[in-house]
Amino acid sequence: MTVGSEIPVAEASTDFDVQRIREDFPALDQSIYDKRLAYLDNAATTQKPRAVIDRITRYYTGENANVHRGVHFLSQQATDNYERARATLAGYVGLDPAEVIFTAGTTGAINLVASGLGQSMAPGDEVIVSTLEHHSNIVPWQLACQRSGAVLRVIPVDDDGVLDLDAYRLLLGDRTRVVAIGHTSNAIGTVNPVRQIAEAAREAGALVLVDAAQAFAHGPVNMADLDADFLCLSGHKLFGPTGVGALCGRRERLESLPPWQGGGDMIETVTFKKSTYSDLPHRLEAGTPNIAGVLGLEAAITYLAGLDWPAVKRHEDELLRAASDRLESIPGVRIVGTAPDKSPVVSFVHEKAHPYDIGTVLDRMGVAVRTGHHCAMPLMKRLNLPGTVRASFAFYNTMGDVDSLIDGMNKAESVLG
Ligand code: PMP
Repeated sequence: MTVGSEIPVAEASTDFDVQRIREDFPALDQSIYDKRLAYLDNAATTQKPRAVIDRITRYYTGENANVHRGVHFLSQQATDNYERARATLAGYVGLDPAEVIFTAGTTGAINLVASGLGQSMAPGDEVIVSTLEHHSNIVPWQLACQRSGAVLRVIPVDDDGVLDLDAYRLLLGDRTRVVAIGHTSNAIGTVNPVRQIAEAAREAGALVLVDAAQAFAHGPVNMADLDADFLCLSGHKLFGPTGVGALCGRRERLESLPPWQGGGDMIETVTFKKSTYSDLPHRLEAGTPNIAGVLGLEAAITYLAGLDWPAVKRHEDELLRAASDRLESIPGVRIVGTAPDKSPVVSFVHEKAHPYDIGTVLDRMGVAVRTGHHCAMPLMKRLNLPGTVRASFAFYNTMGDVDSLIDGMNKAESVLG
């Protein structure tokens, strides 16, 4: 199917006012190589609303001070704002503020848990992850297993990208210590039945960590709905800043984690003989935190809390359906990942062109996609692919962006085919 070079600005036929929403995101309104930007790399990182950008600017312009240490006005104000941001995030996920630990991101959060739990793992203990995982939810567990003698077990996935839950149940046993599972696959979009997975883990007496890096951009996530012990997120994937994220967890689970990094703020007293540690959440936050990042993250959460999520879901589903249908109608294109429950991520390959070459042609057309293994090499190996082209949508994307993608693919066909 060939689409003309004129890009119609037709929108999905929902009640979602995407043009209004786009005005909140200044980075969307630009041209790349003289082409209107179609930003379809949201699974890698999302663009930021003005509310986030302004919050960070305001902090550095007039509020900058370190937290928790000063008697002066600015420091106390920064401390109050930092702790209020913690309460905002805690409220959004359904926890108490002490149950939210700020980290550098999802990777930092998973490493904190894996290194902590790893200290009490013994040879023969088992950790379960899935074939769909991002490397950030594999490697920290591998390290913990290597240090403790525990064994990593892996839930298989079928050709559609759906986890085999029967096989999962067979993996569970009395040596299973942790099930670490992604909520949503960044590589192919599968949304996992996390609650079901968590309930089975709990029956086996295992702890559950959910890598929710890809979840929050497509809807609120509540700890009570997931029945998880730990929930990990990244600010930059939910329209907030890079370099900040959180480990959210049940108090008793966080309390059972040994101190991770040592240094300012996590201590109560220090002598050369012995140090004692603060209570949660500070015990797991060493050193000066990313204060501006945390304030920006709060602004992003506040922005998300104001969205009409059922309307967002309808809009994203329409984008996913349109992009999938139209890509599939291009000869030689195959969609990778066809789970019934999917986030708006379309991974695909072309029988005649390498993903990298397609990505390069699309880039010249102003279409930003990601190509490669998407930090999910074991999944790519399972699917027998070196990589894919991935178009990942957010609520601010339009049917015009889908048109640009299809236009770009037609161009790629003529250049590479
Ligand atoms: N898990 C998933 C599913 C992801 O998509 C990502 C980022 N691509 C991560 C973990 C790691 O997130 P970060 O780099 O922000 O720590």
